[in-house]
Amino acid sequence: MSHPDILVAGRMPPNVLDQLEASFTVHCLPEAADEAQMMIDAVGERIRGVATNAVQAPQIEMLERLPRLEIMASSGIGTDALNVDYAGKRGIHVTNTPDVLTDDVADAAIMLMLATSRQLVLADRNVRAGCWLKGLSLARRVSGKRLGILGLGRIGQAIAKRAAAFDMPIGYHQRHINPDVSYTYYHSPTALAADSDFLVVVVPGGSETDRMVDALGPEGILVNIGRGTTVDEPALIEALTEGRIRGAGLDVLADEPNVPDALRTLDNVVLAPHYASATVETRLAMGQLVVDNLRAHFDGRTLLTPVG
Ligand code: NDP
Repeated sequence: MSHPDILVAGRMPPNVLDQLEASFTVHCLPEAADEAQMMIDAVGERIRGVATNAVQAPQIEMLERLPRLEIMASSGIGTDALNVDYAGKRGIHVTNTPDVLTDDVADAAIMLMLATSRQLVLADRNVRAGCWLKGLSLARRVSGKRLGILGLGRIGQAIAKRAAAFDMPIGYHQRHINPDVSYTYYHSPTALAADSDFLVVVVPGGSETDRMVDALGPEGILVNIGRGTTVDEPALIEALTEGRIRGAGLDVLADEPNVPDALRTLDNVVLAPHYASATVETRLAMGQLVVDNLRAHFDGRTLLTPVG
């Protein structure tokens, strides 16, 4: 019996690809746009599944050329790039990979908080350049400072758990109060920011959260580990440049992988390439869920982690 044809759009760890190849006829979408078009011309009508990730998912123009598509299995949590409404109208199932990346992303948030506050990247550059402490101002303490978490979901709660070990009083904002936690609830992102030394943003992207963060106090440090679109980036750059906030640790940007020139030059910014979940362990677990969801679908079993 022939295997279902699936399109792999985005990088997958080698052993995940091996597993996909054992169960499906795999077509890896080339990165170059013209080559990708040629592949879709050749096999688009046969594709029944897509294995992808939250950043490189095929957009509607390409999905329109996959008339037999039944399922999109994404490695990642964010659904903002997955065209879920469009998929719903066509009856295409969508899956993602919650939980398995929570710990790594929470670790990365704490790493960015410490690295930004303690000027780690600047200090490292100094030592390599033979400047030692020259030009390095005193940093600010992290322990005991107020932490605001915008989005106290799976990852937000894992960050709070880690921050408790730093004796940080924790506040949060999201649309609903969580009755299971004793952290202080704030009714708006602005109120939370005003009362926080560190603000960690970990809400999903999309129109509802677009540029919802636009304020923080002069001693405040912003960490964004959710989506770049949730922060008003030009306003952030202005505030960083004028010293109206202390610093920013950013794993995500508004227009990835493009980095605004101003952010490249600011010493009070620590940048990372949207890699909070990029450990061997977690990427394998995410890839495994992609494989398992695709197999479940084509075997007629219940999906493990459907979106919605
Ligand atoms: P969850 O769904 O568990 O948590 C999201 C939280 O955001 C919820 O508590 C929700 O609470 C809150 N929220 C959602 N919409 C809004 C809104 N409009 N206003 C205020 N709060 C809102 O997701 P995870 O914690 O697992 O992941 C969060 C996000 O982190 C992902 O969507 C993804 O964008 C990002 N992420 C980034 C990664 C990276 O590599 N940097 C890796 C993985 C995830 P409520 O419903 O009460 O509003």
